[in-house]
Amino acid sequence: MKKILVANRGEIALRIMRTARKMGIRTVAVYSEIDRNAPHVRFADEAVAIGAAPSSESYLKMERIVDAALQTKADGIHPGYGFLSENAVFAQRVEDAGITFIGPRPHAIQVMGSKLAAKEAVKKYNIPMVPGVEEAITDIPKAKEVAAQIGYPILIKASAGGGGKGMRIVEREADFEAQMSRAISEAVNAFGDGSVFIEKYISSPRHIEIQVLADTHGNVVHLFERECSIQRRHQKVVEEAPSAVLTPEVRTAMGAAAVKVAQACDYVGAGTVEFLIDERLNFYFLEMNTRLQVEHPVTELITGIDLVEQQINIARGEVLPFQQKDLSIQGHAMELRVYAEDPLNDFLPNVGKLDYYQKPSGEGIRVDDGYEQGMDIPIYYDPMIAKLITYGKNRMAAIQKMKEAIQQYAIQGVATTLPFGKFVMEHDAFIKGKFDTHFVKIHYAPDAIKAAQQAESQIAALAALNAYLQEEERLQVPITNGSGWKTKRG
Ligand code: ADP
Ligand code: ADP
Ligand code: MG
Repeated sequence: MKKILVANRGEIALRIMRTARKMGIRTVAVYSEIDRNAPHVRFADEAVAIGAAPSSESYLKMERIVDAALQTKADGIHPGYGFLSENAVFAQRVEDAGITFIGPRPHAIQVMGSKLAAKEAVKKYNIPMVPGVEEAITDIPKAKEVAAQIGYPILIKASAGGGGKGMRIVEREADFEAQMSRAISEAVNAFGDGSVFIEKYISSPRHIEIQVLADTHGNVVHLFERECSIQRRHQKVVEEAPSAVLTPEVRTAMGAAAVKVAQACDYVGAGTVEFLIDERLNFYFLEMNTRLQVEHPVTELITGIDLVEQQINIARGEVLPFQQKDLSIQGHAMELRVYAEDPLNDFLPNVGKLDYYQKPSGEGIRVDDGYEQGMDIPIYYDPMIAKLITYGKNRMAAIQKMKEAIQQYAIQGVATTLPFGKFVMEHDAFIKGKFDTHFVKIHYAPDAIKAAQQAESQIAALAALNAYLQEEERLQVPITNGSGWKTKRG
């Protein structure tokens, strides 16, 4: 593979191209009109315009992307995450055009793209699953019976769901029908597929997922877990590896289960098997994401393995260069997703211009970003500006490093999740590892950030005043220069 087209934008496009370049592979960017001057376009060896700003007109246009690859003679396409990364039709079209899709086979994408088909596929491997129904609900009275058996609250989920969308909690039977029709219409709108099913709503779960790698020769390994319980809207904001709560025994059991899930769909490449864990560390299979995950860097830092490099080598047909016994966890890594969202206003997107942008640097700090000072954050795409990742010899060191890095990270022009990250890193429950997916609901108080920001700006104002007064004082001290003149400000 000598040339790779990256069918994505932003930080992930850049991150993939960096590894390609390191491996001596040429890179092709694709871009929408609005991304004409984006860093991923400038970084690439070649770039092809594929359409207007809305992703349905550009980053989701399969034939334009395949054409761009043919035109530039790229021999591989990396889809990144989001967009077409979990689209089996796209993977097939890429292969049909004689280009290597850097990811799993279309069949695996299809099976795991449907939460119901995924459950069906892994059932025979004895993977623990959240109690619920295992087929799409068509008969409402029957579904109500099942719900009563499982016990409320229950969760109605879209089979085609993703990105935290298409989920409805039902607290009591009286709400069942109303929530059901909402879930179905949401699923139809977001995914074009109205199939929904029921799961028991686990009351205080942690989200812990396992990274897997599988080559085309039947070798499958896992690269341990990532804890992703700090979420808003069922979407992750803070991730870390390893988890603060897993025992070596549970880690091994979850790793083995994840490997089986991968084998159940003849998986090839890098993938993630997601689980929910209850208070007693029982784990339940949620779904498999058949792509590189947003939070993959924390795994890279604790294993020393470049996951994109592995993806490319696997796509080239190479044998995995390590076995399970060669892998171990070194140190601790923490990631904060820096979104252009206002943590003081319900995490609503807050897009606009990056008037000032200065990222942190130093040992143990990694920033994967896709923007520069002066750029606009478009409303058309995911509002993630960057991922701030830190590494330390243990969890407290990684937390400490994250606090320093947040302090150093200066962004003006849009509100970001940086202050939220600071709140999390300083929170006792987080530090003690005692949290679940409801951390935001239970512990997060925007007022605490407001008060801290006010105090900080007061301290800053006082410090500035103090510095000014001291300067005045200093300058008023008569200084004799060579000519006998006395200097004084004014
Ligand atoms: P991860 O599990 O990698 O953290 P997320 O759920 O946060 O993944 O989603 C990663 C990216 O993919 C985000 O940009 C998100 O908006 C997008 N995404 C995920 N699933 C879908 C989907 N079904 N439809 C559209 N976008 C999606
Ligand atoms: P998506 O495809 O949107 O990523 P997931 O099934 O992975 O959907 O679930 C996303 C998040 O929703 C989980 O991390 C968890 O916070 C919550 N969730 C999903 N299923 C359940 C459940 N049965 N009980 C409690 N929370 C759940
Ligand atoms: Mg998920």
